[in-house]
Amino acid sequence: MPFSVTTPIYYVNSDPHLGHAYTTVAADVLARHHRQRGEEVFFLTGTDEHGAKVARAAEEAGLTPKEFCDQVSARFRDLVAKLNATNDYFIRTTDPEHEARVQDFLVRLREAGHLYEDTYAGLYCTGCEQFYAESDLEQPGNICPLHKTPVEWLEEENTFFRLSAFTGKLLELYDRDPEYVAPRTRYNEARSQIEAGLNDLSVSRASVSWGVPLPWKPDQTIYVWVDALLNYHTALEYGTGEDVAAKFWPSTHLLGKDILRLHCVLWPALLMAAGYEPPRKLFVHGYLTSGDQKMSKSLGNVIDPLQVIADLGADPLRFYVLREVQWGQDGSVTRDGLERRYAGELANDLGNLVSRATAMIVRYRGGLVPEGRCELEPIDAAVSERFDAIDLTGALDVIWGLVRAANRYVEERQPWVLARSQAAADQALLDTTLYTLADAVRSLAVLLHPFIPASAERMLEAVGDPGAVAWERAGLGLLPAGGEVSQPPPLFPRA
Ligand SMILES: [Zn+2]
Repeated sequence: MPFSVTTPIYYVNSDPHLGHAYTTVAADVLARHHRQRGEEVFFLTGTDEHGAKVARAAEEAGLTPKEFCDQVSARFRDLVAKLNATNDYFIRTTDPEHEARVQDFLVRLREAGHLYEDTYAGLYCTGCEQFYAESDLEQPGNICPLHKTPVEWLEEENTFFRLSAFTGKLLELYDRDPEYVAPRTRYNEARSQIEAGLNDLSVSRASVSWGVPLPWKPDQTIYVWVDALLNYHTALEYGTGEDVAAKFWPSTHLLGKDILRLHCVLWPALLMAAGYEPPRKLFVHGYLTSGDQKMSKSLGNVIDPLQVIADLGADPLRFYVLREVQWGQDGSVTRDGLERRYAGELANDLGNLVSRATAMIVRYRGGLVPEGRCELEPIDAAVSERFDAIDLTGALDVIWGLVRAANRYVEERQPWVLARSQAAADQALLDTTLYTLADAVRSLAVLLHPFIPASAERMLEAVGDPGAVAWERAGLGLLPAGGEVSQPPPLFPRA
């Protein structure tokens, strides 16, 4: 079955940071895993470029909004490439193809009777691009809870979407699939927002000029969040030069918990209103913090993804963020913690295993995989179960169990002692031992390929099985005898 996965598109009013890298890595891990299962995959990421906030940031930078977007979007695209992400398209909401389809979508909603005109008056945060109820603001002073700045009173003639009419349909969707939104706490949160009753939503803005014009009233722009959400579908329609929406929609969306309501309530309703299928699944991840503090530039506790990649490569960063913090929950990451995992788990546990296994085969068997059978237990079924649950940290836990088992096996078997014996039984046992180690390195490379693709490929080359990342090779006992083994330079050199 085709699989499509998305990150949120990243808002260009700020530079890329670790939070963006986090979701991009997770989506790439899923995309690579589904590809190694032989599925057709569409992995989408990109930038969200409209709205008052962007227009203001551009003005401050002395640029037109489009010039500003071009610059910042390029920095996001650069981060995606440096993370070694395999996205099939990088969408920009300023793509003319996207903008035209956003307008078509609004026309479709209007023709289906889901839009109406009304006056909107309310408290509006330009930072959030969102109207607030007074009860959701910090008092006194009507302060935006996110931006800590006072909101403004705004009154305008708007186009409204009948979101309230979709309460029942949304609840049906949630009832049909108790894992529609994951983790469970987020499902409950989204569901209770729907149960509390939904208000109609203003989907046009007279006050925002940097956006997609409303087709029948071009002095207004389409609400930036409607424009942004639609990227998940429009990209499939034009991103690869042909319309692949029929194959790849509905998608699985990864998102941060701050945008839960928009993705888990508004987005499925918009789709159903226009006659499209709602998303396949929504996975809501947590925040990365530093120590007990939220990461912030001013606190100086920021892990700069580009710096880590320059120092250690993309693989250690990809590994660390998914290993350190349970995917789906909040957790703390630090540069010290990253370096501890790098030295302890990547260099010691995994790097040494590869180094020892290959060095001993070179030394004792002339660099050829001996005949043998694998004595370790395969874990591929347990890992794929974790992947199916989008439990990326759980998958790494299971994989690390095999890394440790292989290291214990070396210590117990002591191949260097067997190698000194001329007895046939000892030499046969050495064959089995070395085969087991080479095969374990190969299996680990397949299992780890989604997480640390460059290192995994080097592991496969070292045991003479380059490129063999297909999931059907994730089990044990599949390495052919006679393959050429070489000892690679350290996979994770000491910094
Ligand atoms: Zn705000």
